[in-house]
Amino acid sequence: MKIEAKHIEAIVKRVLSEAQTSNNSKPSGYGMFDKMDDAIEAAYIAQKELMKLSLAKRGEIIEAIRKDCRENVELLAKMGHEESGMGRYEDKILKNLLVINKTPGIEDLECDAVAGDDGLTLYEYAPFGVIGSITPVTNPSETIINNSIGMIAAGNAVVFSPHPGATKTSRKTIEIINNAIMSVGGPENLITSVIKPSLENTQIMMKHEKIDMLVATGGPGVVNAVMTSGKKAIGAGAGNPPALVDETADIEKAAKDIIAGHSFDNNLPCTAEKAVVVVEQVADYLIFNMKKHNVYVMEDPELIEKLKNLVITEKGGPNREFIGKNANYILKHLGLEFGDDLRSIVVEVDKDHPFVLVEKMMPILPVVRVKDVDEGIELAVKIEGGNRHTATMHSKNVDNLTRFAREVQTTIFVKNGPSFAGLGYGGEGYTSFTLAGPTGEGLTTARTFSRKRKCVLVGGFSIK
Ligand code: NAD
Repeated sequence: MKIEAKHIEAIVKRVLSEAQTSNNSKPSGYGMFDKMDDAIEAAYIAQKELMKLSLAKRGEIIEAIRKDCRENVELLAKMGHEESGMGRYEDKILKNLLVINKTPGIEDLECDAVAGDDGLTLYEYAPFGVIGSITPVTNPSETIINNSIGMIAAGNAVVFSPHPGATKTSRKTIEIINNAIMSVGGPENLITSVIKPSLENTQIMMKHEKIDMLVATGGPGVVNAVMTSGKKAIGAGAGNPPALVDETADIEKAAKDIIAGHSFDNNLPCTAEKAVVVVEQVADYLIFNMKKHNVYVMEDPELIEKLKNLVITEKGGPNREFIGKNANYILKHLGLEFGDDLRSIVVEVDKDHPFVLVEKMMPILPVVRVKDVDEGIELAVKIEGGNRHTATMHSKNVDNLTRFAREVQTTIFVKNGPSFAGLGYGGEGYTSFTLAGPTGEGLTTARTFSRKRKCVLVGGFSIK
């Protein structure tokens, strides 16, 4: 068997890196460090190395990341599920595959050119340098894969600050990605992190002079923290996506799509349907059809009250113990037995119920009746809460669809499909797991993680 030079180089790099790890117990190569300062310094050096490589090599690095993550997708899904105690293993495989296959790479960086009597001007996408990326527990490996592909494609290095509740999964993902990068001759430590992620370490990262950009994927606390950091910041924050159904919709399909989107990974995705608003005329038929998709419709008001007291805290937020848990796990606490395959608990409530207004991230689906589409649009906009995140609508009336889309102003708006179609799963277009509503970049890609630069050549090169 013939071994190519690039493989020998990668093996030597890895052996040297492992030797260093065992000699001074300071891990390197796989990107993990005791101290945040060291993680940033190493990423800084790696980014300079990346810039010495060709774009073709950068493309090869991205393909190697996709390949190695694909080969490890079951492991990452299993680790994410077991460590966080949230979501569904089989859905996590789908989420990981989505980011592996549909996150844009270097092809996203096409330049614009203007040529004329005064010469040629290029508008190019250049790297920021080192990006500090803060990632959530709800999509631990998915966000690291997604951001690594986009950020590296744009020529950056990344320092990750993962949620402490997903330390092992995040570390494994970073290790797999660094291995992939080095296996095709890319620099070591192109993505880094600390062995023990913590708020203190994130704060060091947010203030560090060698961090050129911050990207927060999480709830309002972290988005606010990066937006007030004084650095260039992208905030991908919380959502509370409503699904609006009017009387013109294909109700059987709407019921199927809503349950599929809502129960995906036990409602963890920030894009997943969190509440349904339905026009009175078709409400009973919608709920009747939801029952065909393995849900439990809870009708007893006392039981609904008990469910509320179980999963909503006194402060009005979601009880973390139940975030991303299976529907039958939640019901067990109320003395009800169901199988693991139960997808959701459907409850009809009034429009001010906390189930409707709180981002729960649990397979509990509140349904609210309204008299007509006007009232429906008004309520759905209120439920979305100005997050500019995600909304879906089931309707065959173009005017209604257009009006709701205009009024709700979300980053993702899905018509007649499950919310995950907006992530590129069963819908056209690329994916992103960092959806920047608050700062306005939308579904982030390599281009988002770039600086737009203008390069002017005066008086030549126009051949028009
Ligand atoms: P979280 O806000 O608790 O944590 C997210 C990350 O921020 C973690 O790494 C955490 O350690 C860190 N963090 C939290 N508060 C911080 C602060 N004040 N300063 C610095 N760092 C801080 O969120 P989570 O439970 O991990 O994830 C769920 C939340 O994230 C939901 O609100 C969901 O809607 C949102 N989310 C949004 C997107 C998006 O693309 N818009 C994607 C995934 C999740």
